[in-house]
Amino acid sequence: MSASALARWASHPGRSRGRRIAEPESPPRTVHQRDRDRIVHSNAFRRLVYKTQVFLNHEGDLFRTRLTHSLEVAQIARSVARALALNEDLVEAIALAHDLGHTPFGHAGQDALQECMHEHGGFEHNLQSLRVVDRLEQRYLAFDGLNLSFETREGILKHCSRRHARELLAAEPDGPARRFVDGGQPSLEAQLVNLADEIAYVTHDIDDGVRSGLLGPAQLADAPLFAGFAREADALARGAPAALARRALPEALRRMLSALIGDLVTATAEALQAAAPEDAEAARRCPPLVGFPAPVRLELSALKSFLFATLYRHPQVLRTTAAARTVVSELFAAYRACPDEMSADFAAAADAPRAVADYVAGMTDRFALREHERLTGRRLLADLERART
Ligand code: MG
Repeated sequence: MSASALARWASHPGRSRGRRIAEPESPPRTVHQRDRDRIVHSNAFRRLVYKTQVFLNHEGDLFRTRLTHSLEVAQIARSVARALALNEDLVEAIALAHDLGHTPFGHAGQDALQECMHEHGGFEHNLQSLRVVDRLEQRYLAFDGLNLSFETREGILKHCSRRHARELLAAEPDGPARRFVDGGQPSLEAQLVNLADEIAYVTHDIDDGVRSGLLGPAQLADAPLFAGFAREADALARGAPAALARRALPEALRRMLSALIGDLVTATAEALQAAAPEDAEAARRCPPLVGFPAPVRLELSALKSFLFATLYRHPQVLRTTAAARTVVSELFAAYRACPDEMSADFAAAADAPRAVADYVAGMTDRFALREHERLTGRRLLADLERART
């Protein structure tokens, strides 16, 4: 979309706050297109294909991974951005980078690493995503990281504790951590990606939950928000041949996805018209303007609680997550005891615990398991090992 077609409150690439290290730009690409391209070419982005979203990477070829999740978030965010004349390239860049800091094994890995780092400054995955693009990617002779624009980095730093925000501000007083101390919102594009993330995961986690057999029809009949769409699709599929009846679930999910996107566009367009911010900076000083209608927000929140209780805390999921936590915490202990077991850059780092956290967080599920076996002699989650060979 050309800059002239953007809404006045959108993040115009021509008014970017720029990169930390000045670089000549690369026409005809905008600053945010170039950010997206740098992200797609990064090592961390390619690793997302072997990182768990909810189900461990090996449990089935059709389950979402962090990569396919990120692509779905980007698709949803771009649809909404185009409908609202927001910066589509910026939302794509933020969406593709939003999970780069995730550890192997999804939330189980993150919880374990948080515990390991409790005495050493903590571990937050949003902050880790920013570390990946600011420091850990090593592809440029002139600087560490990808040297992304302020707007992309602001979107990546979705949450941040005040303690970490103060640390970031000490190094970069006008950086993206500012709002966690002073208040204010991130750009409309960053707000949008946050909600596109929610739309993506509630939808695809139902799909994966059913595919895994952990969510059954009886439970889904009570699922907030989703149950209505399931009834619509079931009514249409009634009497259809079995081959077609199987399409009732994707039909219901597709309807829910479309409805959520439509609701987000409508409610946000109204909020923007009412607040009428002068430009992107003024939009940051408004309350959050990208959002769902209030009843949908409540239903979505109830659906998230439903998924938490039925799927993320399902005994079968908890069994694998317990093993995954063990892998991460034992890896952390092994590298702390013997830093030379890590690759040379990490072994030589001044802040040893942080280097171990960076190293472990960057691993794919299968590399973590391989390293765990090499260092401890034990094979956890052995079915993944079989899948690998
Ligand atoms: Mg996500």
